Amino acid sequence: MGDNGYPLEPSVDEMRTMVDRVATRVIDHIASLPSQPASYTEDGRAGARALAESLPEQGTNLDLLLDLLFERAVPLSYNTAGPGYLAYIPGGGLFTSAVADLIANAVNRYVGVWIAAPGLVQLEMNVIRWFCDIVGYPPDAGGILTSGGSLANFTAVVTARRERLPDDFSLGTIYTSDQTHHSVRKAAVLAGFPEKNVREIPTNGRYELRLDVLQQRIAEDRKAGLQPFLVVASAGTTNTGAVDDLDGVADTAQQEGLWLHVDAAYGGFFMLTQRGREVLQGIERADSIALDPHKGLFLPYGNGSLLVRDAGALRRAHATFADYMPAMQDDADFVDFCDVSPELSRDFRGLRAWLPIKLYGIDAFRRSLNEKLDLALWAVDQLRTISDVEILAEPRLSLTAFRLAPPGRSEGQLDALNRELLDRINARKNVYLTGTSLRGRFALRICVLSFRTHRDRMEQCLADIRDSAEELT
Ligand SMILES: *Cc1c(COP(=O)(O)O)cnc(C)c1O
Repeated sequence: MGDNGYPLEPSVDEMRTMVDRVATRVIDHIASLPSQPASYTEDGRAGARALAESLPEQGTNLDLLLDLLFERAVPLSYNTAGPGYLAYIPGGGLFTSAVADLIANAVNRYVGVWIAAPGLVQLEMNVIRWFCDIVGYPPDAGGILTSGGSLANFTAVVTARRERLPDDFSLGTIYTSDQTHHSVRKAAVLAGFPEKNVREIPTNGRYELRLDVLQQRIAEDRKAGLQPFLVVASAGTTNTGAVDDLDGVADTAQQEGLWLHVDAAYGGFFMLTQRGREVLQGIERADSIALDPHKGLFLPYGNGSLLVRDAGALRRAHATFADYMPAMQDDADFVDFCDVSPELSRDFRGLRAWLPIKLYGIDAFRRSLNEKLDLALWAVDQLRTISDVEILAEPRLSLTAFRLAPPGRSEGQLDALNRELLDRINARKNVYLTGTSLRGRFALRICVLSFRTHRDRMEQCLADIRDSAEELT
């Protein structure tokens, strides 16, 4: 490479060869995803150590580097892009988004300020507008694309703080359920609140935030001279997929003058489906919503979003000024992303959502999400036919939690039994599941969210659960 004497600027032929070789490896990899093991990290320590390397003075041949990547580094992993990944909340990995990244990084335009690339900024604004339409937000809503749900939750807490509290905000209190994703607590701490200002409200039998306790806590805190300002509801928890009573929480937030943020990182894109809209009713009343395109829209990791009902709130929370910056435009139709987010220079992440949505149309996503809802219902019906299975959380969306509970065993014995069950299922390598603790009981979870997961893989999953359970009881 570098025949022209500038190795950092490959020639036209070299670029073509490079892309061709990489395409071959990537396509082979994707084609083999279904037959790859669902997880392989047993040799993680040794494998990782063997890959430690010092700063190279000279270059290496591309094929050797691709060998290293695809033979040694990539396989040492959970197969998060494969059809058997039913753990945590699965991410996606649309190939089209990878192609979008190639384009975005190759053109390398600057989208932090509007004037530097008005056309590309417009495409990203279109994506944000589509997301606002999906959740039922009004025309003056806005938002930002983030790296994920955690950063979306963080920006939501900062925005709520700046809208609702004085500069000295140490008396501000935040309300959320004991099932809420830990990124909310982290967001509160990063936003400057003492951890003790985050109230974890207990949940009901369906793991939904208890409104009576919420109202009681708010009243107590007001009496104690604190300043309740924010309630965070969950639209699909990571533990069980529980969805809080969003209308009920919205009523309380309205009565109490609190900012309502809905963490819909997992559940939000089910708004594309009829069933999802019924479950998530009231979400459009939130002041802000976090939703993760790298979950429900099947994008690769690194794609979250925060939507805000009044786009002005984001600007008031983030806009600052510096002499060396170009003038920001003040046309309400346009936006400088640096004025509404913590970032200045950043990747052109909008293309990762824009390209697949334009290429396939949103109905392709709706259909895939409906398939996930069907698969979760099918799975729970099948689980019920396995003796001694206890369903701990019925699927509201595409997530269910269960355990094996043969009679006559202590809770401690049941926990050990179910940990062993999880290990045995995962050892078969067809699917990868994870567990959690629900009110002190160890539970297994199935979360169906990959666009690559279809009925055949779910049948394999249920066969593996059934066989592993039989071995143990
Ligand atoms: C995944 C998830 C998050 C965190 O989002 P990241 O994209 O992993 O940062 C927050 N809340 C919920 C409900 C989630 O499912």
